[in-house]
Amino acid sequence: MLKGTERGSDLEKPYDLVVLGGGIMGLACAFEEACRGRRVAIVDPNPLGRKASWAAAGILAGRAGVVSNSPFRGFYLRSLAAYPEWLKRVEADSGIPVAFVRGGDYQVFRLDNPASLRSLKARESQLIREKATEFSVRDEWPAFLRPRGCKGPVRAFHFPGEAYVNNRELLAALETALKRGGVDLFPELRIRAIHTAGENVLEAESRKMRARQVLIAAGAWSNEILKLTGWRAPVIPVKGQLASFPAFHPEKTMIHCQEKLYLIPRGNNLIAGTTTEPEIWDEGFDAYGDEKLRGYLGEFFPGLEPDWVETWSGVRPRARDRLPLMGWVDENAGIALCAGHYKSGIGLAPLAAKCMSALLHGEKPPVDLSPFDPKRKGGLQKNTS
Ligand SMILES: Cc1cc2nc3c(=O)[nH]c(=O)nc-3n(C[C@H](O)[C@H](O)[C@H](O)COP(=O)(O)OP(=O)(O)OC[C@H]3O[C@@H](n4cnc5c(N)ncnc54)[C@H](O)[C@@H]3O)c2cc1C
Repeated sequence: MLKGTERGSDLEKPYDLVVLGGGIMGLACAFEEACRGRRVAIVDPNPLGRKASWAAAGILAGRAGVVSNSPFRGFYLRSLAAYPEWLKRVEADSGIPVAFVRGGDYQVFRLDNPASLRSLKARESQLIREKATEFSVRDEWPAFLRPRGCKGPVRAFHFPGEAYVNNRELLAALETALKRGGVDLFPELRIRAIHTAGENVLEAESRKMRARQVLIAAGAWSNEILKLTGWRAPVIPVKGQLASFPAFHPEKTMIHCQEKLYLIPRGNNLIAGTTTEPEIWDEGFDAYGDEKLRGYLGEFFPGLEPDWVETWSGVRPRARDRLPLMGWVDENAGIALCAGHYKSGIGLAPLAAKCMSALLHGEKPPVDLSPFDPKRKGGLQKNTS
């Protein structure tokens, strides 16, 4: 249970931690810290949890990996393993159930063109490299998709252990847990200046806050804050567009059409997602997204022309080397960064929050964070503009 931090009505009293950004990363880190009894606030210029973390499809797919030869894959697989326990804690502290479904995943590759064969080869190499065994493979559509699936040769992998989470429910549950635990939430408040001499003073238009530590978790917007501290991160927005439509099959499984398109069950609908648009800040659903989704749906499921129930988009935070940035910006001043989780932030959240919390407390994180050090080669640079 959350310990229940002291309410922050006395603004003269410094917070132990002010988190800047209320997406999955900011909320999850604040949750960890509040559980340790710290006095925490979250500040966000927008409503909390309405950006990339809300837009996401909630896929938690490890592709049955057992061993990993990269720090990132290792981190991701460990975080997925921590999900059920972490969700239990969030549900218990919020009283809000969060849909987490281990419905499995079918990944289907067409065998009739060079591009899809290359994509298939990459998947097969990964399965060998990671010693995956918890999957099966057949050169045909699974029975429930056969009436709809494209003609021509296909290879279908089945990963029965894959899961997905309703990320919107998760964000709502985290927010409620934080409120119940006494964390001060300041949505629609923008920090305009950060002074670090002696102690951290954060200035918004209408108020000032003092904080022993500051955690920047503003996703694709993290540079808005970093520049106030004299730094710049190599993070860009990468837009993704999604739409939901009434499910055309009764199963609870996810479906990935190569790496082009995914279909994730949510209630009676399927979420279809596809695009990867670097450097686009616009958060609308547009003709390009519509065309891409319909194009790939038609390629794999000819004749399927759904009416969208909902359309939306979001911007993923991507670092130049595609690795998250998790660590100190200025350890002396107590300023840390947790951003750049690109396409996997929902999956990475439980372990990222545990690691960041350990870092903030001067403890050894459960996973070595040095590959994700914000000041690694190609990482943060002094902001000269
Ligand atoms: C279309 C799409 C599909 C995705 N699907 C998946 C998936 O299936 N599985 C998965 O694991 N991941 C998925 N992701 C990736 C995942 O959503 C992100 O990695 C994750 O949400 C990043 O979390 P975040 O908290 O860093 O960013 P965000 O959720 O974007 O939160 C950043 C917060 O910072 C706030 N902010 C902005 N400016 C400031 C400022 N100046 N000061 C303070 N705060 C500020 C924003 O308002 C926002 O609330 C997807 C992403 C997208 C866009």
